[in-house]
Amino acid sequence: MTIAVLAIQGAFAEHEAVLTRLGVDFIELRQRRDLEQHYDGLILPGGESTVQGKLLRELNLFDKLKDQIVKGLPTLATCAGLILLAKQLSNDTLTHFGTLPVTVKRNAYGRQLGSFYTEEDFGDLGRLPMTFIRAPYIEAASPKVRVLAKVNGNIVGVKYINQIGISFHPELNDDTSIHQMFLEMVYNQ
Ligand code: GLN
Repeated sequence: MTIAVLAIQGAFAEHEAVLTRLGVDFIELRQRRDLEQHYDGLILPGGESTVQGKLLRELNLFDKLKDQIVKGLPTLATCAGLILLAKQLSNDTLTHFGTLPVTVKRNAYGRQLGSFYTEEDFGDLGRLPMTFIRAPYIEAASPKVRVLAKVNGNIVGVKYINQIGISFHPELNDDTSIHQMFLEMVYNQ
């Protein structure tokens, strides 16, 4: 099994460290020719979604990656990655892949003071550590979307067919269960 990590901006190295810990092979997606390699799953890391969206288009990665996600490539998207997947943004006119039928609010906890740590239940995984950094949350989700986690009543984790979208940064804590859940999805694909 090989996981492709979008490595154009943001917290990709932290996701790669988790994959290394779990003994999973990965490749980095940095330029168009990287998309010619074989991979079974995709990680869209946190960072700055506006910059990532711009680079995805400039580097000519956008259309093929979107097509792969639409066709079922298992995808784990965290923070800015969730913003890239969202069909709608409540406080931004620009959308990106738009493959996940949710409405996301960027910088939903405020820009500067919006970073915090908490622990909450996540799907069937029990209570997990959650580190939020200028994070978005999900304001509304299509009934077809499974809500996995809420913090203070706001949705912070969802699953929709092959896409897992998370507001926080699971790669910044020692707990690897979200990555393992994603890898299981890739394995069962
Ligand atoms: N605030 C960032 C954005 O809007 C997301 C923050 C993050 O990925 N940690 O893209």
